[in-house]
Amino acid sequence: MSNKRDYYEILGLTQSASVEEIEKAYRKLARQYHPDRNIGDETAAHKFREATEAHDILVDSEKRAIYDRYGHAGLEGMAGGGGFPGGSASDFFTDILSSFFGGGGTGRRSRGPQSGNDIQIELEIDLVEAYTGCKKSIPVQRLEHCKKCNGKGTLSGKKTSCKRCAGKGVIVNQAGFFAVQRECPSCRGSGQEISDPCNNCRGQGKVNSGSKIEVNIPPGVDTGVHVQLRGEGEAGDPGAPRGNLDLIIRVADHPDFSRQRDELYCGIPITFSQAALGATIEIPTLTGKTSLQIPRGTHSHSEILISGEGMPNLRSPNRRGNLHVVVVIETPQSLTKRQEELLRELSEIDQKVVSAPKKGLLDRLKHLFQHNEDS
Ligand SMILES: [Zn+2]
Ligand SMILES: [Zn+2]
Repeated sequence: MSNKRDYYEILGLTQSASVEEIEKAYRKLARQYHPDRNIGDETAAHKFREATEAHDILVDSEKRAIYDRYGHAGLEGMAGGGGFPGGSASDFFTDILSSFFGGGGTGRRSRGPQSGNDIQIELEIDLVEAYTGCKKSIPVQRLEHCKKCNGKGTLSGKKTSCKRCAGKGVIVNQAGFFAVQRECPSCRGSGQEISDPCNNCRGQGKVNSGSKIEVNIPPGVDTGVHVQLRGEGEAGDPGAPRGNLDLIIRVADHPDFSRQRDELYCGIPITFSQAALGATIEIPTLTGKTSLQIPRGTHSHSEILISGEGMPNLRSPNRRGNLHVVVVIETPQSLTKRQEELLRELSEIDQKVVSAPKKGLLDRLKHLFQHNEDS
């Protein structure tokens, strides 16, 4: 999703770097690329900004945890894409993180045409779709510009002075000794109101409408990952930008495979003879098959690792996790005559007590592997 460089790579560190190491690496880069020392050098300025951003994220344990888990995509999901609109990177991230974690609203919007609202939608996909990446068509209910009045809310374009605020755009409330001035909610600060509202949108300029949008979900997404679609939110006032659509991914449980980050886990039944003698068997993966080497003398419930058969990494999809196969020795519930003979022979060699053969075959099968207290 992102072509931004890895934060650790920027600082020349690995994921296990301590805060001290991050500070040290940042100080070195900041000294080297500081704009005051490299006047007019755009490359240096870029490197300085890059290092500052990497530092600001990685020294904050909360942001670092999000980055470690979801990469740039995770932060972008909350941030509304790359770039820092005004202020420093750290201010910007503090803002978006606090709104992400429910730390209060975004505050009052400024006067003038307002941009559209952001929409959040939860999208459930299955594990195979998360593995391969997928294209989804998502139904969205959102405010769109009214086609009849082109979003103006009026056909004639005639406006009169707002009655509520007498055209001032603000109303004044008395709170004790203080006069508190706030934006007029009727005209939203414009001081004007429409004299002949459009009958399609009742003067709002916008109507609720359903549509479908196509989304590409990258391979490796996990529950909680945000995929942001800029400009796919609700329509804004005429001339103002649309809001964004924030897709929150939920990956449904799979009946056979479970997942932890990029690692996949599954259980495979094997026979006692496969466990004792060793075998190569074919086992299902999320999208096909792979071969599993069972070493001679494998215990039940031991784990065999198949490297590179796990989930693709969201940040670098060419890197994959591992598949952990837990092999479970299954005791047969029914035996052929020959199988029974061989097992009895084996038990003689083992010199272990087993139940005596019964007359009827069915009885024999039923009681074969039950622990017999009377014998
Ligand atoms: Zn007003
Ligand atoms: Zn209208």
